[in-house]
Amino acid sequence: MTRPFNFSAGPAVLPEEVLERAAAEMLDWHGSGMGVMEMSHRGKEFVSIYEAAESDLRELLAVPKNFRILFMQGGGIAENAIVPLNLSRGESADFVVTGAWSERSQKEARKYCQANVAASNAETSYTTLPAAGSWKLSQNPRYVHVCSNETVHGVEMHELPDLKALGCDAPLVADISSHMLSRPVDWSRVGLAFGGAQKNVGPAGVTLVFVRQDLLGHALPHCPTAFDYQIVADNDSMYNTPPTYGIYMAGLTFQWLKAQGGVAAIEQRNIAKAQLLYDFIDQSSLYVNRVAPNCRSRMNIPFFLRDESLNDAFLTAARARGLLQLKGYKTLGGMRASLYNAMPLAGVQALVAHMRDFEQHQA
Ligand SMILES: *Cc1c(COP(=O)(O)O)cnc(C)c1O
Repeated sequence: MTRPFNFSAGPAVLPEEVLERAAAEMLDWHGSGMGVMEMSHRGKEFVSIYEAAESDLRELLAVPKNFRILFMQGGGIAENAIVPLNLSRGESADFVVTGAWSERSQKEARKYCQANVAASNAETSYTTLPAAGSWKLSQNPRYVHVCSNETVHGVEMHELPDLKALGCDAPLVADISSHMLSRPVDWSRVGLAFGGAQKNVGPAGVTLVFVRQDLLGHALPHCPTAFDYQIVADNDSMYNTPPTYGIYMAGLTFQWLKAQGGVAAIEQRNIAKAQLLYDFIDQSSLYVNRVAPNCRSRMNIPFFLRDESLNDAFLTAARARGLLQLKGYKTLGGMRASLYNAMPLAGVQALVAHMRDFEQHQA
């Protein structure tokens, strides 16, 4: 059976090997007589799944010892509240607004602290990134928030900002939801990073939080106990029942990624995949991507047909060729191809072949 290629922005394609393994283990995990969904989170079977997932993730991203990895729930959107509840101390935080997701983070944080906009490129319709040197950071923000890959607008920071070099001692908070594990992370620049699993890691329902130890223990008094990073860390993410099946699936993805050669190897493949699609779009007279080349996302590639009346025909013909979920984000329109780790090069080649054929057919 050959499966179609799925370009969804999330929940998104998973490696076929991971799905097959999960299917094979569905009724009986490793001779335990139980499926993973049926196990106590405190039993030795699930604890071993959890510990392997945590240690594989730590190895894949070279997460330093002074960072805790938390498996939480609520997705990136809940973290927009959980981060200020834990880090702001009710004071202030700075936001670099580079697209739909950081815009949303700033708005949510206003419920809990003073949320300053240090920079915004809204006036370029988020097709560029504001240069770090131009950010107007405030005096003593408790943290500085960025979204290092804007899933909707297709804008990626190819390097995380170095706040110290900008004269700012505050920790960097990065929403890495849609490019987690697609490339290495420079942890020396990060205080906290978070992301939902459903983009590049596993099924919806697990949120990964990487938090530097010294940032724990400062939650506001009204922070829900289950969302207090210190409490979650002290209980190894089991203060409440964790999303056990999602953690298991994420663990299988981590094993798959290790077998692929790890994050550095997958990054090279991601660069090649994105390059193939951008190069095709840039030479085409039908398709356009308006994001400045130095900040184009490798994971989420929005593109538009110059004649928008062809959108439905494009999508229908794509579906007929086994190319699924290419429709763009609701507010932006057009198309979007998400090329996460689990999207093989063959999928991008098939997409480019479709785009070429469709363009020739119109000419
Ligand atoms: C998808 C996404 C979110 C929201 O994730 P939920 O799981 O729906 O809460 C937040 N930030 C970014 C960058 C995303 O791509």
